[in-house]
Amino acid sequence: MSNPKPSTVSNFIHDRIESDLNENKNDGQVVTRFPPEPNGYLHIGHAKSICLNFGTALKYDGKCHLRFDDTNPSKEETEYVESIMEDVRWLGFDWGDDLFYASNYFDKLYEYAEDLIKQGKAYVCDLSGDEIREYRGTLKEPGKESPYRARSIEENLDLFRRMKAGEFANGERVLRAKIDMKSGNIIMRDPVMYRIQKAEHHRTGSKWCIYPMYDFTHCLSDSIEGITHSLCTLEFENNRPLYDWFLDELQTECHPQQIEFARLNLNYTVMSKRKLLELVKNNHVNGWDDPRMPTISGLRRRGYTPESIRDFCERIGVAKADNTVDIALLEHCLREDLNKIAYRVMAVLKPVKVIIDNYPDGKTEDLTAENNPEDETAGTRTLKFSKEILIEQEDFTEDPPKKYFRLSPGNEVRLKHAYIIKCESVEKDDNDNIIQIHCSYDETSKSGGATADRKVKGTLHWVSAAHCAEAEVRLYSHLFTKENPESGDEDYKNFLNRESLEILTGCKVEQSLAGVKPGLNFQFLRQGYFCSDPDSTNENPVFNRAVSLRDTWAKIQKKGS
Ligand code: ATP
Ligand code: MG
Repeated sequence: MSNPKPSTVSNFIHDRIESDLNENKNDGQVVTRFPPEPNGYLHIGHAKSICLNFGTALKYDGKCHLRFDDTNPSKEETEYVESIMEDVRWLGFDWGDDLFYASNYFDKLYEYAEDLIKQGKAYVCDLSGDEIREYRGTLKEPGKESPYRARSIEENLDLFRRMKAGEFANGERVLRAKIDMKSGNIIMRDPVMYRIQKAEHHRTGSKWCIYPMYDFTHCLSDSIEGITHSLCTLEFENNRPLYDWFLDELQTECHPQQIEFARLNLNYTVMSKRKLLELVKNNHVNGWDDPRMPTISGLRRRGYTPESIRDFCERIGVAKADNTVDIALLEHCLREDLNKIAYRVMAVLKPVKVIIDNYPDGKTEDLTAENNPEDETAGTRTLKFSKEILIEQEDFTEDPPKKYFRLSPGNEVRLKHAYIIKCESVEKDDNDNIIQIHCSYDETSKSGGATADRKVKGTLHWVSAAHCAEAEVRLYSHLFTKENPESGDEDYKNFLNRESLEILTGCKVEQSLAGVKPGLNFQFLRQGYFCSDPDSTNENPVFNRAVSLRDTWAKIQKKGS
């Protein structure tokens, strides 16, 4: 596995950083962070942010922190923290000693809040959640000031301390910043800073019953950590004035520069943790790491490599405008990587038996097969050949259409790494189903033989019936039937693809795949790239098809050029 390399393509964020470096801002330091909220598993959108943040640090010889923005005790769990760390590491990035939790700053944040109260810039408000929303106004109408806005500093301090001491019930009071109820930016209309939430936190336990809001926590956590450039997605553009307000009013030593970029959207999937959680909870998929999920763990199980995901993130680049990326590009990046590294093997997904009548009974031969024609160092392996072999049902037809180069009565094909065979007859049951196909073989057509380079139009993959292992193969298609399942008024779940998973049992794979370890990538000749699944046992290896061989992205590119 290769390590991430500094990006060679530039973008507006790097331009900005370079101009800061030229002015020797932040003493020439670059410190970024990836700040997930541990309320779900990471998805491919997060991978974009991870590659950007860690990649930027790599490029400018800086540092990138991993920080858990864990301000919401009711939705966060240790399971998510662990999965996030695993996924970032798997992508190839290293935060070194710089692992942080916003919850580590709860004491400091509380002090900041009291500081704002003492400055007369924050107040305790008794309006209910609904009332606060009502008072907030709309884009067209200004908000109304809360009747509690004029409370004295002393009263605010007293009430806030009593909130902290647990004297009030959930939702009874909040702490709000005193900014401007008439601001054109609704976020600036006295946003809530603290709420009462009597809930155990995954790290601080029952120490707190008030928790800081994300907006208050996020910018101050960045500042406490000395982040120089806070890279975030576009929807936080409107929050920037609020972040600046907190940092300016508190006169923090460090004032990170926020820069927004467009989030990644992919077609035929959804990308919000809330929706992904819903798919998991309601059993629309088999867990967060279901190979159909756009989660990092799902992609990993499907057979994606860290290299292919990093390559994808590099190619999509970083822009200022939202757009949707074609999932075919992601698949293309995987094919490119696996083409270089995956061993070619033979697997017959829907087998039918072929008997080679003129091949000696009981004979077996060792044939040599190259592991990867793209990689000279990959070497060869031995394949067993015998009188009875299995081929793909769809590689035979009794009445071939024009240009059918597979097997049909009287027609010849080459068996990969082996001989040329010719179909002589077909054996059927009473219901006209094919039981087996009888062939003859050309003994001289074997590699190294007299007619080894005799050309026939078709080459088929196969396995020897007595020298293969049985396997389960899982084929996937898009999780949603609609390109953008989130557009329109209908519930995105109505567009779930009921045929996104097809399970094939009784597949036959070459012997070398018996007892395979999970997480290995192969190319099944003519069938695509497959990855051994953790469900595999010695008796029943299981393979996920990561992608087929048909590169729709390359096709689109060709058409376009
Ligand atoms: P979601 O909307 O999926 O729930 P989120 O933004 O709430 O995601 P966080 O845990 O807050 O999830 O995200 C951590 C970081 O990843 C943030 O800096 C966020 O901007 C970034 N991020 C999240 N989704 C995407 C995406 N689709 N494309 C790029 N970056 C993303
Ligand atoms: Mg978020």
